[in-house]
Amino acid sequence: MPPPVFRFAPSPNGYLHLGHAYSALLNFDAARRSGGTFLLRIEDIDATRCRPEFETAIYQDLAWLGIAWELPVRRQSRHFSGYRDAIERLSARGLVYPSFESRAEISRLVAQKEADRPWPRDPDGAPLYPGAAKLLSPDRRAELLESGAPYALRLDMAAAARLAADLAWVERGEGPGGETGTIAARPEAWGDVILARKETPTSYHLAVVIDDALQGVTDVVRGQDLFWSTSVHRLLQSLLGLPAPVYRHHRLILDSAGQKLSKSTAATGLRELRAAGATPADIRRLVGLA
Ligand code: GLU
Repeated sequence: MPPPVFRFAPSPNGYLHLGHAYSALLNFDAARRSGGTFLLRIEDIDATRCRPEFETAIYQDLAWLGIAWELPVRRQSRHFSGYRDAIERLSARGLVYPSFESRAEISRLVAQKEADRPWPRDPDGAPLYPGAAKLLSPDRRAELLESGAPYALRLDMAAAARLAADLAWVERGEGPGGETGTIAARPEAWGDVILARKETPTSYHLAVVIDDALQGVTDVVRGQDLFWSTSVHRLLQSLLGLPAPVYRHHRLILDSAGQKLSKSTAATGLRELRAAGATPADIRRLVGLA
């Protein structure tokens, strides 16, 4: 067996906190223990939220923790053309369509539907896409695209799931409900997910599966909040002919009120803890990795 490849893939849209430290250390330690490789990937596709100072801080905070990574670091914003190619491949198979509703229109449509009965929500609690853009005539679609209207490119989930039925993944950690072992993927639970937007030629789901494959990642170790996203990742891997890594979803580090940590809470930020005199060994202890 070739040595395993692990990765830590933060988005530079805030400063790292204890939850990131836990994830990064789990990956780094596992790579070291197994004689494998540890990669750092910067997931900076969202130009409106990502900032260079956050990226610099990621390098500083991880180095301070004693983590070392391979160079060069892959930065997703440099690889938009690769993601575009993948969307074109899916489009060519009739699996992608543009939708033109704004977020406000989508909320309105969901509210209308909910007047009758509860509208289905995805595993993150967001309503499934309620629109009918899939049914637009080719002429109307072309007209809207030519008008310069903003759009989102969506995966036709029903068609995609027909092409790739009965997918599963190997889970070495566990899901939020304790799910472990071989997990049946349920991509339909996400509805017609967005694969790209007019101004951002990829989504998290698409970029993550392409990069994990391109970088030869064998083991994805990440937070339980992404457990059910793996259903979409398995579907995209299958449609694009990419290998499936093994997954280990780890517990989340919660704050004293039992909430998921946010990038804006100073109390658990690595920079704040460092400024207050914490050592890297203290951070390991705080996340239960002594
Ligand atoms: N970039 C994602 C995040 O910061 C993590 C992606 C992943 O590990 O699959 O939440």
